[in-house]
Amino acid sequence: MSFNIAIDGPAGAGKSTIAKRAAKELSFIYVDTGAMYRAIALGLMRSDTEIEDERLLEQALAGIEVTIDYRDGVQQVYLNGENVSGLIRTEEVSAMTSACAAKPQVRAKLTDLQRDLARRENVLMDGRDIGTAILPDAQLKIYLTASVRTRAERRYKELLERGENCSLAEIEKEIGERDYRDMHRETAPLKQAEDAVLVDSSDMTIEEVTARIIQLARERMERGYGA
Ligand code: C5P
Repeated sequence: MSFNIAIDGPAGAGKSTIAKRAAKELSFIYVDTGAMYRAIALGLMRSDTEIEDERLLEQALAGIEVTIDYRDGVQQVYLNGENVSGLIRTEEVSAMTSACAAKPQVRAKLTDLQRDLARRENVLMDGRDIGTAILPDAQLKIYLTASVRTRAERRYKELLERGENCSLAEIEKEIGERDYRDMHRETAPLKQAEDAVLVDSSDMTIEEVTARIIQLARERMERGYGA
């Protein structure tokens, strides 16, 4: 039986950085489900699909296939066979992704892929609904969050380092809107699972949060929760 760790939380809480490090340390496979939603959103953007029209959405989704594999341990995401990993991190794709991810038809497309991976391997999977909907039996669930201000400041720094021109107020607004959409959608909204451990990273370093997750995982594995 595989051992599964679910990490959910809002945008910018540090999930992917921390999940990547913890997975490496634990020799687990890191599954970034956000990248899968982003690939679908890119596909829908490219086909200029009016996503509010159910028939057009379903038609477009029928022509979209998302797959992943790993290159040097790093997850790559493919849209109909094309590696789109480098094209899905723009602000435009982020906003479109959160709108697309509210659609049940979009979510249904990724559910089996995510569950199959977790059945076969020890995974550390991050997203919004992993502990609540995708892997309700995960042996460890973490809800990783931080204040909107902290998350906006982190994102602001990241963009400045990349030489991108941006405004902190604008980023804070964008993150607040994305949180709201992710938490208030009808299908699989972002929320803390009842049995998830809450970790607020506002005043913690990446190293501290990673160490905490590794410690929790090791404790549970030693107690014989699967694996
Ligand atoms: O994690 P990331 O920021 O890449 O996710 C992008 C968007 O994809 C989120 O804002 C959310 O709308 C959607 N998402 C989701 N469920 C997941 C992962 C991501 O709805 N499991």
